[in-house]
Formats: sequence, structure tokens, C-alpha cells
Amino acid sequence: MQDVTIEHVETIGVEAPLDEPFGYSQSWVETRTATLVRIEASDGTVGWGECWGPVAGTGEVVEEVLAPHILGENPLHVERLYDRLYDVGRATYQTIVPLPAISGLDIALWDLAGKLLDQPVSALLGGQRRERIRPYATGHYFKPVEGIEAQYEAICEEAVANAEAFGAIKLKVGLELCGYGPDEDIELVRRVRDAVGDETTIMVDANYAYDRKTARRVGGALEAEGVYWFEEPVPPEDMDGYASLRETLDVPIAGGECHTPSEFDRLYAMDALDFAQPDVCIVGGLTPARRIATRGRDNGVAVVPHVWGTAVAIGASLQLVATVEGRPWLEFDRSANPLREELAVSPFVASDGHVSIPDRPGLGVELDESALATYRVD
Ligand code: MG
Repeated sequence: MQDVTIEHVETIGVEAPLDEPFGYSQSWVETRTATLVRIEASDGTVGWGECWGPVAGTGEVVEEVLAPHILGENPLHVERLYDRLYDVGRATYQTIVPLPAISGLDIALWDLAGKLLDQPVSALLGGQRRERIRPYATGHYFKPVEGIEAQYEAICEEAVANAEAFGAIKLKVGLELCGYGPDEDIELVRRVRDAVGDETTIMVDANYAYDRKTARRVGGALEAEGVYWFEEPVPPEDMDGYASLRETLDVPIAGGECHTPSEFDRLYAMDALDFAQPDVCIVGGLTPARRIATRGRDNGVAVVPHVWGTAVAIGASLQLVATVEGRPWLEFDRSANPLREELAVSPFVASDGHVSIPDRPGLGVELDESALATYRVD
């Protein structure tokens, strides 16, 4: 085992155009994408990871900029290699570190290490605290329909179905994308609350649609509807805004999918978050996400990872949430994504109100090679 080395790194960009686009405050989504990372060790064992973002450029950063710094290394030294990749990224780009590209490598290294040691990744991250987890349904995006009434109706219909299936749903606000404004956002949340009833947990996600003043007004209305958290109310750069909203609003504040590891430290220091949402495919992988979760625990902040990718992203997120204290959720994306449903031999499903956490070696995710070939674009 000590003689096994990292021998080969390869990326596979995948894309799936959607039959019908859906919208959130920043844009319409017409295609789902991911870049998968495949690391092969000298004994033939393979680990898989996933990078968030466009296929364009991501594979080149992984294969040509980062991978040369881990080839020939011991694949069990995952945290040391993550720290090296972070330092390489900073030295190469100076103003940014290419965290989504590092994410795919880090996740693949954990998967590989787990397989080499015949252990689920959660055992290597400190130990599994639960075998299954409650999901909440992400979806309820804006539809390409005419008129606000049709929009309310379509979103309410989806929300009712997901509320029945999961008991917890996340709505999108930021209808300015469709030519409306915060008044319609508030009305949307009211209509959905009326449709699903008081028993359903409702989270609301603005994807930084607002300035502070508007976020304060919308947040006040969300409190009246008993909303569980208000996610990304203002732009990620406005960390003072997060802190100020958290101080003045009763609705809990969530965020983190757009933040870096060091920004989480600042948000914790500023008392700016109730729920921290690192995404393992964005923030740099499982290594920084686990550190963010640990420091969140130390600062009294619950960690509920952001999850929006393929089965690799879901599998990695499950290994993380298996290890965190408290009573975490799994973000369970229900929006259209053929990659999520088709790339894994066994896609993740909810049954009896829970999603099971794999206890097989590594991430516990087996990819379907023929589906990979179908969606591969590079
Ligand atoms: Mg979000």
C-alpha cells in the first residue's frame, strides 16, 4: 500500500441540454454541465471527483496546471496534497485560486484513498454519525410561461408535489429575471405557503438578487410566512450585509455556495451566518468543506452543504454530512438534470423520507461508462 502512487489524472466534461429551460434570479439554465475527474493509482484503483462549472477550461486547469503537482505522490496523503494544490493555485493565478478545479481532484483523491483502504470516505473524515439523512427538495425554479399568475400556478403545483414527497422544500425568489420584483417574490412565497400548508418546511433562496434594503424588506415578509432560512439574500462580496441582516432579521440567514474557505472564517468571525453551505465541488473539495464544518461547529453554525451536481457530487456530500454533528439536511436537487439521474449505475433516491448514506469503500458511487460516453463533450 505504501508503494502505491498517483499515476494518471484525466478529466471528462459532460453536458446535457434541457428540453425546457428554468430560471433563478441570475439566469436561465438551458444546459447542465460537470467536469468529472478520474485519478488512477499505480495498482489500477480509480477514484472519481467532480468540478462545478462550465466544461470550457476546467479540464485544462485540472490536467495541465494542477495534476502535475500530485503525479507520483502517495494518494493517501489527501490533506497534504489539497494544501499543495491550493498553494499552486494561488501562486499561479495570484488574485484567485481555481477552487472548482481543485475540488474535483480532492474529491477523487478521497474516493481513491477510501477504496485503497477499503473504507467509506466518512470513516477517513472522522467517522460516520448517521446512516441516512433527511432531504429537502430544491427546485421550484421560474418557468418559461407568460404572466405572473401562470408563474405562481406552475411553481405552486411543483411545490405541493415536493412537499408531499419530502416535507421540506426550497423556493427561488428574484423574479426580476422575469420582469417582476420583490412584491411578486413575497406574493410567491405567500401563495406557496397557502398551497403546502403550515407543516411544510420552506427555505427561500434569493441567489443574491437583492441589495441590503430590499433584502431586509423581503426578509421581514419571510418571517411572517415562517420561513426556515433566507439563503444568499445579498451578493457574496457583501459580508457586512450578511452580518447586518442576521442582526436585524429573525429569519435565519444561510449562504456559502459562492464563498471561499477563508471567507467562511470571516463570516463566522462576523456572526454573519446561521447555516453555512459549502459545496464540495466548488469550495475546493471535501478537505476544505470538512474544515469549514468543523469551524462552523466551533462557532455555533450549522453546516448544510450546497449540492447541485451529479451522483459524484451527491455521494461526496453524503460522506461529509455523515460526519457532521447536529441534525443536518441533504440538499436534494429535483430540477431537471439528466446527468444526475443517468451517470450513476444507481442514482440516489429518497425512501421513507430519507436518503441512505453509502457505506461502501470510497464515495460508494459507481459510474455508468456508457452513460459517460453519451454525455461526454471533450
Ligand atoms: Mg442557493
